[in-house]
Amino acid sequence: MDLGIKGKKAIVCAASKGLGRACAMSLAREGVDLVITARTAADLEKTADEIRKETGVKVTAVPGDITTDAGRAAALAACPNPDILVNNAGGPPRGDFRDWGREEWIKAVDANMLTPIFLIKAVVDGMISRRFGRIVNITSASVKSPIPELGMSNGARAGLTGFVAGLARQIARHNVIINNILPGPFLTDRLRSGFQEAARASKRPVDELVQERAKNSYTGRVGDPAEFGDACAFLCSAKIGFIVGHNLILDGGNFNSSIA
Ligand code: NAP
Repeated sequence: MDLGIKGKKAIVCAASKGLGRACAMSLAREGVDLVITARTAADLEKTADEIRKETGVKVTAVPGDITTDAGRAAALAACPNPDILVNNAGGPPRGDFRDWGREEWIKAVDANMLTPIFLIKAVVDGMISRRFGRIVNITSASVKSPIPELGMSNGARAGLTGFVAGLARQIARHNVIINNILPGPFLTDRLRSGFQEAARASKRPVDELVQERAKNSYTGRVGDPAEFGDACAFLCSAKIGFIVGHNLILDGGNFNSSIA
């Protein structure tokens, strides 16, 4: 299927690795020109190069912390009128909520709620005036099925989800469409580092823990970031103008419910 977005422009945040990188790659394969961001310039340039070589699209690497005003301004300066925005940032740390003060909470809310909201605010009116916009927020399966030790993630992402649910309905008539994708376990650096921690604590090999997690999944495996990227490209396509404000959980069926 031709997704109908060849020649469109996208900002993909936090995209040198993992899920963000996969979204950037899938959009590029559809002929979308990209601005990609991440804090580590060398990794970001490497990813930009790989995407250019594989797809031939224009890729501009904008190093910076997307959770800061300066980071967002730099991304927007490189692409002031995107047709597509993929919101993403690192997730908050695990822990016990008794150890988190105001500073930790503000950081989590900034990264996983306010950063996407401010980016949406910056681009949405341009999308409305051009009568095309696609926004995908990468959140987490924990929005539907909380992970107790990820309290700041559960809380901040739920805040974003509530806000987006209303906004998505306010702007859909202009063909500006917002949806969220909720990843379950995808084998990225972030998931791998979680397995590495668990391996150290349990003195078991990382691979064994990954296999165990895979075995306990309905699909018998963990997710491949590339399939996450393809789902994101689909939700950025010209075809999805009637899919409004959804929370697409990609977890291999782990969220156990008759209606996902
Ligand atoms: P990852 O493999 O660690 O990749 C994170 C990417 O984001 C890197 O490119 C990183 O580059 C960039 N990044 C992080 N913080 C940034 C910031 N403040 N500004 C700009 N770029 C930033 O992580 P991932 O697994 O793809 O996870 C992406 C998001 O999905 C996270 O919020 C995570 O919590 C959530 N999630 C992931 C899973 C999973 O299974 N993978 C499941 C549920 C939720 P730099 O470090 O160089 O900035």
